[in-house]
Amino acid sequence: MTHADEMLTHAGAHAEELAAPGLSPRPQRKVAVLACMDTRIDLFPMLGLERGDAHIIRNAGGLVTDDALRSLSVSQRLLGTEEVVVVMHDGCGLHRASEDQFTETLAADGVLPGWRLGAFDDVEAALRQGLERLRASRELPAREHIRGFVFNPENGTLREVSGGDG
Ligand SMILES: [Zn+2]
Repeated sequence: MTHADEMLTHAGAHAEELAAPGLSPRPQRKVAVLACMDTRIDLFPMLGLERGDAHIIRNAGGLVTDDALRSLSVSQRLLGTEEVVVVMHDGCGLHRASEDQFTETLAADGVLPGWRLGAFDDVEAALRQGLERLRASRELPAREHIRGFVFNPENGTLREVSGGDG
């Protein structure tokens, strides 16, 4: 059995608790969270979120990529969110990864993608850069409340990266 088979069976046995009849697709807390896909980041208990509260957008690094912007733009323009929280973390797979080596392995397979790995040397600097990009993105009509946090999976702490609000 593959994991997909197990997942399908699991979901089938829990339909009653998975159902959300009448729950609005518009995030009740009007917030979108962009976070790294890292397995150790459990956003719901970390941020005190419940289902229906927030949009959750995840990618490698929690980076402000074109596609993250696309999702955030939909979140604000079509579904009414007004606040963005970005969560990156210590010990990220992109930290000190080799952009060149990654590109070479892709090239060896004949692939020259239009995107970059997004490796970084300093998580806080990378986060600040992301926040700056968000604050300059007119795809987002609401840019007053954009904040960035770094999670430490070893001790469970979440710290804000200055740059603060606005
Ligand atoms: Zn990560």
